[in-house]
Amino acid sequence: MKYSIRMRASAEGLHVSGGERLVDEESLPEILASLLWKGIRSPVISPDQIHVTIDPVEEEAITCIKALPLYTRRTGSTEEARAVAKDILKENGIKEEIVERAFRLLHDGPGPEGNNMRGAVIMDSLSGERLEPDRARGVRVSRIDYTLETRENLIKVLKHIGIYHERVVDALAVASKVTSRDETVAELCISDDPSYTTGYVASRRSGYVRITNLKEKGHPKGGRVFFVRFRPGEYINYLEKTPVLIDRIDMIHG
Ligand code: AMP
Repeated sequence: MKYSIRMRASAEGLHVSGGERLVDEESLPEILASLLWKGIRSPVISPDQIHVTIDPVEEEAITCIKALPLYTRRTGSTEEARAVAKDILKENGIKEEIVERAFRLLHDGPGPEGNNMRGAVIMDSLSGERLEPDRARGVRVSRIDYTLETRENLIKVLKHIGIYHERVVDALAVASKVTSRDETVAELCISDDPSYTTGYVASRRSGYVRITNLKEKGHPKGGRVFFVRFRPGEYINYLEKTPVLIDRIDMIHG
């Protein structure tokens, strides 16, 4: 038996931070404490509520996948970084105007009042229409983690090439789950942490491409857009509910 742990921290009802892990019983107390700590020391606003949900997950229900290969594109400015991200998204068949729409949304804050969302925007990759059922919440990818050995191995490699950050580990897991589905054309992520300016574009075809300077330092808005080719039906349920473990990593480029 494994346990899914989900943490969400909010202030006055608005999303502050979140985290999700899928762990063995022995690791549960330690991981629970680390997620609570992540919520408490959220970088921008102190939360006034932290919710933690723990659900048992049968081992037989778990699907194992491989992580996406990881690449890094170093850029000298936000303009250059956006151009790199746009090129990759265009290579994946997403038209410039749709890419622009996604960038605008994340820059302005994708929530109803221009706030950050807890989950991701789902965007039709052809029409740009937003498809997530709840525009205030978005779709939160959950029940995703690495096997213990794979996490240790990934951290070792990231440290060895000098790009280790807890965020990279978490985000590679999210992107690997999201892009493992045929509905996903690509994902765009810009952090909502004003001090973290590296974002990424991910797709099965391009891998997970970290892009430095994807947002201006100090800007408090961000989010994720999952570009999809079909109307999401089973897709959202899969992203939120199906337990997935990453048991292999691919190439990692600094
Ligand atoms: P972060 O990279 O943690 O700064 O997250 C940036 C944004 O991505 C958040 O504001 C959320 O809108 C979204 N997000 C974070 N984690 C997830 C997740 N597990 N699933 C879907 N969207 C997420």
